[in-house]
Amino acid sequence: DKFEQCDLHPAMKENIRLARYTTPTPVQRHSISIVTAGRDLMACAQTGSGKTAAFLIPSLSALFGKAGELCHSRPMNSFAAKQYRAEPLVLILAPTRELCTQIFDECRRFCYRSQLRPCAIYGGAESFPQKLELEKGCDILAATPGRLQDFIQRGKVGLNRVKYLVLDEADRMLDMGFESSIRDIVEQSGMNPDRQTLMYSATFPRAIRKLARDFLKPDYLFLK
Ligand code: AMP
Repeated sequence: DKFEQCDLHPAMKENIRLARYTTPTPVQRHSISIVTAGRDLMACAQTGSGKTAAFLIPSLSALFGKAGELCHSRPMNSFAAKQYRAEPLVLILAPTRELCTQIFDECRRFCYRSQLRPCAIYGGAESFPQKLELEKGCDILAATPGRLQDFIQRGKVGLNRVKYLVLDEADRMLDMGFESSIRDIVEQSGMNPDRQTLMYSATFPRAIRKLARDFLKPDYLFLK
C-alpha cells in the first residue's frame, strides 16, 4: 500500500517521490486502481482527502507513456498562436477560482518532466492573460464552467480530444448554479464521447445522481 507498488509510469512515481507523498490516501488508492482499469467513477470525497492527486495521478500517468504522440504541437509564432485552439487531453471542472488554482498547482507538480502542459481558466479574473497562457499550449485544463464556455464560444478551446473528464466538487458546482453550463459543456460542445469520466462530490442529492447517470458509463463504480 505504497505509491511505489502502484501500477504507474516510472516518471510519475518519480514526481510522487519529489512531492514527498509516500502512502496513498484511501480515495487515491481506489481511484488509481479504478481509473487504471479504464472504468468511470463517482467518488465521495471531502476537501483534504487527497482527491486532487487521486484524479491527477492515474490520468496523467496514463498519458505520460503517450505524451510524445498525443501532446498538442505548440504554436510557433504569434500568428500561429492567434489561430491556435487548445485541445486538452484532461479537463477538470471545478466550482471556484481558488480550487482551480489549487488543482493547477498540483498539476504542475505531477506534469514535471513530461511534455504535458497545464493551464487554468476561471472567472473573477481578466481573461486576456488566460488566453495568452492557453496559446502557449494546453494539455491539462482546470476550469470553472462559465469561463470555459466563454473560451469555447470564442473558438479558443475544443473538447474533442478529452480523454479524461473530471467534475471536482460536483455538488458545490450545482449549488453555485453551474448545472446548465456543465450540461452544455459535456453534451453540446463536441466533447469526445470516448472518454473516461470521474466525478467527486461530498454529498449525493438527487441532482448529482442524475448527473452521474447522464455523464458516466452505465457500468461506473461508486466509491463511498
Ligand atoms: P486535497 O484533498 O486534494 O485538497 O489535498 C489535501 C492536501 O493533502 C494537499 O495539500 C496535498 O498536497 C496533500 N496530499 C494529498 N495526497 C497526499 C499523500 N498521499 N501524502 C501526503 N500528502 C498528500
